[in-house]
Amino acid sequence: MRISTLIENASPRLAKRNKTQAALPRRDEITPQSTGANDCAESRLNPITGDWTIFAPHRGARPDQFGTDQRVPATSKVDCPFCAGEEHTTPPPTWVAKIIADDSFQVLLPSGADTATPPAPISDWSVRVVPNKFPAVTATAEDADENASSKRVHPLFQNSKVIGGHEVIIESPNHVQSISELDLPEIKLMLVAYQQRLKHWRNQRGIQYISLFKNVGGDAGASLQHSHSQLLATDQMPNSVENINERMRSHQARTGCCLQCDIIRAELKQKQRIVAQTNSLVAYCPYASRLPMLLRVTTRDHVDHFDLLSFEVLDDLARMIKRMTGWLESLVPNASYNMLLHTRPPGAHGNSEAFHWSLEFFPRISRIAGFEWSSQCMINTVLPELATEKYRKCAAAENPRLVL
Ligand SMILES: [Zn+2]
Ligand SMILES: [Zn+2]
Repeated sequence: MRISTLIENASPRLAKRNKTQAALPRRDEITPQSTGANDCAESRLNPITGDWTIFAPHRGARPDQFGTDQRVPATSKVDCPFCAGEEHTTPPPTWVAKIIADDSFQVLLPSGADTATPPAPISDWSVRVVPNKFPAVTATAEDADENASSKRVHPLFQNSKVIGGHEVIIESPNHVQSISELDLPEIKLMLVAYQQRLKHWRNQRGIQYISLFKNVGGDAGASLQHSHSQLLATDQMPNSVENINERMRSHQARTGCCLQCDIIRAELKQKQRIVAQTNSLVAYCPYASRLPMLLRVTTRDHVDHFDLLSFEVLDDLARMIKRMTGWLESLVPNASYNMLLHTRPPGAHGNSEAFHWSLEFFPRISRIAGFEWSSQCMINTVLPELATEKYRKCAAAENPRLVL
């Protein structure tokens, strides 16, 4: 089942168009206001493609701090629900931690804390995780039971409540917009928060897939400026993810090796697309990147679940992510960008060798046009070998003594 969500950007773009096309309905007619955070998303099956689409009309009521801008100057202060002092404007947190020193932190609210009796508000924090106020998916165990027992009204009009959760990881109490403005302990704590919430969600009943991503700038799909990531856990495995699972599983069954480990070995041997290496990590531009300037980073050692990485590797990864953001922002100033974390989906079959985590990072400098929409086949205007050359120049400028 593929989930093609309409959760990002659709409404602001419709709103912009409405200014010039008076005959079209007003935004509030297209995107009704939320009736509350518990509005339940509905998923519908396209019988022609086999894809599921999540409908979350209440997300149309989200604030949009970008409008037509991609990145907003740091000086233009807005009312921000993610800044320190505004904790009362978000739903109660599910995880909170504070940096004590450069290499230590304290968890103030652990995953799985009793939410029936909310703890006293925590005002002194470094990273906090809260349920999304405008969730794309949210449902309870009762909804899961209802789904399991419900009878389909018509075989061509199948629908289902999407069971899962949608959370926001707020990465700093300060109003910063990009990873490059976070310091290393903050980035590392952000990665710890990823691990803690991935662990939590993969142990919830029925969860098949967890998407963890970051949108920076309007073109990347962000609606709020303040630096944050999102986690979306669902009981439906998207078609494209199932396809990846199957390819990794069959490669492992055929060769006895992990596909990602084999790719890293081949890339390191060829050297053409390697951008940076550390003791634990390899960053490279994949041979068949679907998007311009896409960078992928993963561990040399085989690890399937991201939440199994050690603190030492997280430390290394925090440094690499900060460097990658710096390179991207020097090559494409003010670019919107996305960061996607691929980790073993809870619903994936096969042994632990059949999936290998990775993180992808790319600027939003291309648009998806008619051919791509019609074929799902991307046209990339930048060869990964050229992208590698550009990133290597940035890496060399950081440290001219560094030789690949
Ligand atoms: Zn803020
Ligand atoms: Zn591997």
